[in-house]
Amino acid sequence: METRNCCNGEWLAGTGASLDVINPATGELLAQVVQSTADDVDAVVSAAQDAFENWRRTPATERIQYLFRYKQVLEQSIDELAQIISSECGKTLGEARGELRRGIENVEMACGAPALLQGYNSEDIAAGIDEHLFRQPLGVVTAITPFNFPGMIPLWFLPYAVACGNCFILKPSEKTPLTAVRLVELLLETGLPEGVVSLLHGNGETVSALIQHPKVRAISFVGSTPVAREVYAEAARHGKRVQCQGGAKNPLVILPDADLEMTTQIVADSAFGCAGQRCLAASLAITVGDAAAPFRESISSAASDRVVGCGQETSVEMGPVINQASRTRLTEAIDAGVAAGATCVVDGRERTVGGYEQGSFLFPTIVDQLPEESPLLKNELFGPVLGLMEVSSVDAAIEMVNSGRFGNMACLFTRDGAAARKFRYEVQAGNVGINLGVAAPMAFFPFSGWGDSFFGDLHAQGRHGVEFYTETKVVVERWPAEWSRKF
Ligand code: NAD
Repeated sequence: METRNCCNGEWLAGTGASLDVINPATGELLAQVVQSTADDVDAVVSAAQDAFENWRRTPATERIQYLFRYKQVLEQSIDELAQIISSECGKTLGEARGELRRGIENVEMACGAPALLQGYNSEDIAAGIDEHLFRQPLGVVTAITPFNFPGMIPLWFLPYAVACGNCFILKPSEKTPLTAVRLVELLLETGLPEGVVSLLHGNGETVSALIQHPKVRAISFVGSTPVAREVYAEAARHGKRVQCQGGAKNPLVILPDADLEMTTQIVADSAFGCAGQRCLAASLAITVGDAAAPFRESISSAASDRVVGCGQETSVEMGPVINQASRTRLTEAIDAGVAAGATCVVDGRERTVGGYEQGSFLFPTIVDQLPEESPLLKNELFGPVLGLMEVSSVDAAIEMVNSGRFGNMACLFTRDGAAARKFRYEVQAGNVGINLGVAAPMAFFPFSGWGDSFFGDLHAQGRHGVEFYTETKVVVERWPAEWSRKF
C-alpha cells in the first residue's frame, strides 16, 4: 500500500519516489510513503488557498464545532490510533494512548478560540477617535513533524491553526506517516470543508518546496536541531513566520534528600519511556553529594528490570528504537564513549528479544564517569541511554545544567523548598520540573524550549499557538458627529 496525499478532500497519489515504512519491532514492511514533489506541493497549497476565503469568513463559533466533533471521533478511535502508532513507531500501547490524550487536550484548548481570538480596544485615544485590535488568520500554514509522537505533535498545531481560520497542511515524518493518514481521515468525518486541512507526505525536498511556495504564510517545525536551525533560516529568508522546535539533552538533578524510590521510578520512566525517544527524556542524571551511590544502585536495577519487547504486547514496558540505523548510531556512540573512558554500568547493547530478531531493540543502558568532552555528555542521543554525573553542591549542579547548549528541560528532585526555588530561578531551560521527570506543559501553556531546542519567538500550544496563527490588525477610527444623518 502506498500512502496518499489529501488534497481538497481527495486522496491523491504523489508523483515522487517512495520509501518503505517499517515496523521497528518486527522489521515488517507496513506501507510505502511517497516523497511529494514541488508539483504535488503546489496542488495542495493552491487547494488550501482556494478554501481559505470561505474558511476565514466562517465565524470562529462555527469553526470550533468541527473541533468538538473531532474530539469525539478521536476519543472513540484512541485504541485504533494507538495500534497504528505502536506498529509504526514502536512505542507501547500505553505510551501511544498517553500521547493521544495529550494531543486531544490541544483540540479541547483550541475550542476556546472565540474567546482566545478576542482583541482589545481603547476609546478616545484622542477626542472622538477610537482604536481597536483584531486578530485575523494568516492564510495557508504548514507543520512539519517528527517520527516520535506521530499522534500528538500534529495536534500541537492543527487545532489552533484551523480554529483561528487558517488552512493547514500537515507534512508528517516519512518514518511514521500512517498515524497522520488516520488523523486526517477522522477529521474529514467531522464534515470539515474540503481544503481546510490537507496532508502532504514527503522528505526534506518536500519541505523546501513548502518553504519556497509564495502562498505558504507560516511554518511550524518539530525535529532534530540541525534541521530545525536550517528550516528556521530558510523560512525566514523566504519571509515566512516560523517556529522550530529542535532536539534536547535533558539533565535531572538529584539531591541527597530526594525520595529515592519515587525518584528512581520517575527517572527510569523519563530515561527509558518511549525508548528514550522523547525530546523531554532524561539524558543525564546529576547527583549531588551523598545521593550518588544509592541512586546509581537503584537506577541500575530499574534499568536492568525494564521489560523490553514489542510495544503491542501488554506486558512490555519499552519498545524498540525507530530503526536499525538509529540502533547502530546509538551503539556506536556508546562504544566510542566507553573507548574514551566512560563505564557502562548497565549495558543494553548485546541483549536481544526472543522472536523479534529483526527488531531494532536497544535495552536500557547506563553510562558513568563520562569524560568532560564526551559526546555522550554533550550531544542528543535519542535512545534509552542515561549518563550519570556527580557534583558536590546545588550550585555546581546548576552550573553543569547551564553549561549545556540545549534548554528544553531541567528537573530537580528534592524535599527542600529553598533549593527548588533556587533551581527554578537560575536554571537555563524553558520547561522545568520539580519532582517530575517529564515536565511537558499542558495544552494551555506554551511548550517552552530554549537554546538549541527552539528557534523562534512564539512556541506551540495555548495562547502562543493563537498568536502564532494570527496577524494583529489595529484600526484607528474617527466618526465626526457632524456627518451623522441624525436618525
Ligand atoms: P528529523 O529532524 O529527522 O525530521 C523531522 C521532520 O523534518 C520530518 O518531517 C522530516 O521529513 C523533515 N526533514 C528531515 N530532513 C529535512 C531537511 N533536510 N530539510 C527539511 N526537512 C527535513 O527528526 P526526527 O528524527 O523525525 O525526530 C527526532 C528529533 O525531533 C529529535 O531530535 C527530538 O529531540 C526532536 N523532537 C523535538 C521536540 C520538541 O518539542 N523540541 C519534540 C519531538 C521531537
